[in-house]
Amino acid sequence: MSDSFANATLYFNQAADLLDLSSNMRRLLLMPEREVKVQVALEMDNGEIGTFVGFRIQHDSSRGPMKGGLRFHPEVDGDEVLTLASLMTWKTAVVNLPYGGAKGGIAVDTRKLSQGELERMTRKFVDEIHDMVGPDKDIPAPDMGTNAQVMAWFMNQYEKFYGFNPACVTGKPVELHGSEGREEATGRGVVCIAKAMLGKFGKNLPDATFALQGFGNVGSYAAKILHEGGGKVVGVTDMTGGVWNPEGLNIIELQAYANKSGGVAGFPGSDAITNAGLLAAPVDVLIPAALGGVLTADNAKDVRAKYIVEAANNPTRPEADEILRDRGILCVPDILANAGGVTVSYFEWVQNQQKFRWDLAHVRHELEKIMLDSFNKVWDLAQEKKVPLRTAAYLLGVGRVARATALGGI
Ligand code: NAD
Repeated sequence: MSDSFANATLYFNQAADLLDLSSNMRRLLLMPEREVKVQVALEMDNGEIGTFVGFRIQHDSSRGPMKGGLRFHPEVDGDEVLTLASLMTWKTAVVNLPYGGAKGGIAVDTRKLSQGELERMTRKFVDEIHDMVGPDKDIPAPDMGTNAQVMAWFMNQYEKFYGFNPACVTGKPVELHGSEGREEATGRGVVCIAKAMLGKFGKNLPDATFALQGFGNVGSYAAKILHEGGGKVVGVTDMTGGVWNPEGLNIIELQAYANKSGGVAGFPGSDAITNAGLLAAPVDVLIPAALGGVLTADNAKDVRAKYIVEAANNPTRPEADEILRDRGILCVPDILANAGGVTVSYFEWVQNQQKFRWDLAHVRHELEKIMLDSFNKVWDLAQEKKVPLRTAAYLLGVGRVARATALGGI
């Protein structure tokens, strides 16, 4: 078993122990239903043949069609995709969407591809996996390295086989059957959770300081929505470096600067900060919103934040999780904190199926309702069972999947 899947299994087993699941049921729930590895071969711009490896792993469908992102990244491999697919199963269950979990991707550095190559790669991948995905089977969405344009190509290619089918993929451009509010959804969900958590301690956004690692889709929207809500974002890092201002960064200006210069580094009126500095910064709330595995046994002892809201998938290694818990730092787990994206993907799928559009206010209202309701359920379960929020979230998610599996039969 790989390192990353072993970590995901550890949290699953903690919940399974509390649920008293049999070893047969554990095996059934952990094993993916289908793992597919395909060759993605295409003609590169220079006339040569490019050969890449693509994956789609369908983890569980007991609660509905499987749902999960497509990641185009050099580090994509079968173990990582399986881990992320299983996280999607528990995540869709925590927020009670009628879905199972899946994940896919291609091992490629998209920065080395032209737009034409990226399009041909996406279309070829669809040619290889079209018979295993679809609106009632498995619905991909954007993840690292993919975006609304990639989803538009995905839909267009899928429709060459099956005709009009916008619900085959989510995260599409708003002009092409996408949903209002999808792009901001994960960031908005993260802020909703941060606000609910602070509320449990009698605080609101303006009473707290925030530091974010990552200023991409999730990090930049989370920072903007925190800023709009009166929260003081004092530190941000990305691939180019980091910026720090104890008086609070002007996120609107930082966004404009990053759009122009390609990253946050060098933002006028701020000091430079490293990732290590940011993770150890004296803030109320730390929001990892970039890579997995950034909080480790080595740096967990340095964290000075009171709360961590996991916007990224898998940002905390289990050893770090234990250290943070012992130090009294409250951590809201990824399968709850970053579920806003899949929630609005669900709204997009519903709109596509019903051929009826929702406006932005309606999307935001429904998203906030689901996030808040899920947070309160996890919070109450943690209090009742006297367990950390992560265990409570797994308890809720794994419990729902196990019950659906038992009710449906095999
Ligand atoms: P993205 O590619 O838009 O942004 C990633 C950000 O991380 C960029 O700002 C990049 O510069 C930064 N980054 C990369 N390497 C870094 C490093 N070494 N140090 C500091 N920053 C670094 O990706 P995203 O969609 O914002 O996703 C971020 C995380 O959130 C991922 O873990 C993803 O799986 C998770 N997530 C995303 C969504 C979604 O809807 N996009 C939903 C759920 C979870």
